[in-house]
Amino acid sequence: MDLSKKVRLRVGTNKIKFTMKILIMGPPGAGKGTIAEMLQKDLGVMHLSSGDILREAVKENNPLGLEAKAYMEKGVLVPDSIIIKLMKEKLNEDNFVLDGFPRNLAQVKQLEDEDIKVDAVLNLKVSEKTIVSRISGRRICTKCGKIYHLQNMSPKKDAICDNCGNKLYQREDDKPDTIKERLKTYKEQTEELIKYYSDKGILNNIDADGNKEAIYAKITGLQWIKKRKSKLRARS
Ligand SMILES: [Zn+2]
Repeated sequence: MDLSKKVRLRVGTNKIKFTMKILIMGPPGAGKGTIAEMLQKDLGVMHLSSGDILREAVKENNPLGLEAKAYMEKGVLVPDSIIIKLMKEKLNEDNFVLDGFPRNLAQVKQLEDEDIKVDAVLNLKVSEKTIVSRISGRRICTKCGKIYHLQNMSPKKDAICDNCGNKLYQREDDKPDTIKERLKTYKEQTEELIKYYSDKGILNNIDADGNKEAIYAKITGLQWIKKRKSKLRARS
């Protein structure tokens, strides 16, 4: 981008200060990552997933990454303070979508202390039945890591990896009983958070039982998104 354009942009955004800081929430299997990717492609907002940030930092071997790695190797959760520092490093723009973090009110408060606040929350709501069918169909190859799905991405040969011929297996986490437990935990963890954003008037509940195109259409149909989408377009 040439400098004159940059200056013009700055003037433009100072006049009408608008930002698009989105948090996407939803239980496991709600499709948060997929929807966040679609928002990134469509609107040019930065997609920031806590999982990706951690994996990247570990790969880069930077000091925070090494710290995080030490926790992961011990099999314990990486402390919020490390994730927040990593997020702060990455977040250098006004338009982003957060996925996977924050998950509870304490994390939100810590982020707000660092001046990371969101303008809108998309809360993907999915029935337990849909989630169980989405997650319990997953099969993973232990050798090459490829992920299959019995309904929409099944292997050519039953329970055998197309790539490497290894046997496919179902993660313990993806079995129906475990999924139900995970959903219970998710609900308990996020109850307070959902109330917090609802009281602020920035919570958008999205029915996310359908396919990704249908879910995305509901999101881009929100007045709030529509307005900002046209502003983003006008700016570029
Ligand atoms: Zn394989």
